Amino acid sequence: MVKVCNFSAGPAMLPAEVMQWAAQELLDWKGTGMSVMEMSHRSAEFVSIAQTAEADLRELLAIPDNYRVLFLQGGASSQFAMVPLNLLRGKRGADYINTGYWSRQAINEAKRFCEVNVAASSEGSGFMTIPDLASWRLDPDAAYVHYTPNETIGGVEFHWIPDIPDVPLVADLSSTILSRPFNVANHAVIYAGAQKNIGPAGLTVVIVRDDLIGNPAPGTPAMFSYRNHAEAESMYNTPSAFAWYMAGLVFKWLKEQGGLEVMAERNLHKAEKLYAAIDTSGFYRNPVTPTCRSRMNVPFTLVDPGLDKTFLDKAAKVGLHALNGHRSVGGMRASIYNAMPEEGVDALIEFMAEFERCHT
Ligand code: PMP
Repeated sequence: MVKVCNFSAGPAMLPAEVMQWAAQELLDWKGTGMSVMEMSHRSAEFVSIAQTAEADLRELLAIPDNYRVLFLQGGASSQFAMVPLNLLRGKRGADYINTGYWSRQAINEAKRFCEVNVAASSEGSGFMTIPDLASWRLDPDAAYVHYTPNETIGGVEFHWIPDIPDVPLVADLSSTILSRPFNVANHAVIYAGAQKNIGPAGLTVVIVRDDLIGNPAPGTPAMFSYRNHAEAESMYNTPSAFAWYMAGLVFKWLKEQGGLEVMAERNLHKAEKLYAAIDTSGFYRNPVTPTCRSRMNVPFTLVDPGLDKTFLDKAAKVGLHALNGHRSVGGMRASIYNAMPEEGVDALIEFMAEFERCHT
């Protein structure tokens, strides 16, 4: 088997053990003679897989009992619409914090359903910072406040949770969920596309406080109603069953690793190493304010962008894949989610140093 380090932002690499477990039971899940891919989602076998996955996720994130966990489809992008459709509850508008590309996507979609108040934005800094909470111009009558704790493209991350007691707080946690402990109880809704730290693409996890579930806006399509999905235990229609099963294996792996405190330590250590390598070189650069740097997505540029292609080609030759930045910004980006071992980061740092030596 060819061993590569995959730095893709998503779909991203999954833990090696998880892939092995999945391979072992791919054709025959626990003596049933069936693959999970072939099972009815309503079979006792699949229901047990689904329930175990939910219980493990609840344990990992310490999700309080008054929250529902939904295993949906449609990606985080569908949540950009589902959040306003379900949370407006007759109100006119919502507050959004704009910290980059994904916040803007959420804002643009929400504008189709409500008045959007951009309560704070780091656009003035080129999205290199996170606006201080003291500067947020929140509307006390907003239906909710939406923010993006980790901007996957810009590599900007909140290392604090906004304390907003009176208005429901909504987080697009797609690219940082499960990378560290997270205070669910401070939030009304958390959502995340699975394809980074949860499992394969095709699954979207939504954690929603139960008092916010019952009031979809009139005309909300059935598939966009939290109520329908909650009432049907995420089986209102055929769920993304195999991805749900894979997510369950990832949750099991995370528990075996020691949980999210352990992941947080490892992730901090990996990120600190990589940023130190960038900052101490005169050849690579990361422009994000150090206190706002992402521990999951590390964008960097080369002094001479003319070398980008050579860098990517040479990296791929030594097994370091998918280091290209998002198509909207170019440059490089190393996504170092939970499944990226420290050795992968070490190999990248070593390659970067060698490339610098050859090209200066
Ligand atoms: N939000 C964030 C922070 C993301 O990183 C992404 C995908 N990269 C999305 C939303 C969109 O997710 P999806 O492709 O699952 O719709």
